[in-house]
Amino acid sequence: MFCTKCGAILTEGSRFCTSCGSLVLAAQIPAPVAYPPPLSATRSARKPANAAVAILLVVVVVGVVIGAVVVLNIFGGGQVGTCVYVFEGQYNRWSGYTRAECEARCSEIQHKESCYWEP
Ligand SMILES: [Zn+2]
Repeated sequence: MFCTKCGAILTEGSRFCTSCGSLVLAAQIPAPVAYPPPLSATRSARKPANAAVAILLVVVVVGVVIGAVVVLNIFGGGQVGTCVYVFEGQYNRWSGYTRAECEARCSEIQHKESCYWEP
């Protein structure tokens, strides 16, 4: 066993440290008994806590992604706006397009400088 104060090696059953003179028996006996259970307890408790935090993060991220998709569908996909197609410096505007329709139309156009949707 070791002195809790200075770390010196102590003979079993000694009450005082031969190096620093502090009372070690009272502090030494509860230490080995008390330390391992709380350590394993905190370790086993921390693992599910980390897993819970990880799961929570995944849920939050998935929720944000789903929320963003829903918001895009409501405010972007369903909303009718103008599809703007730029070719040779000329702006061609097609009104009455949803974002999804505009993106579909833009993807069909081979030669374009820019093609975007605006509300
Ligand atoms: Zn000591």
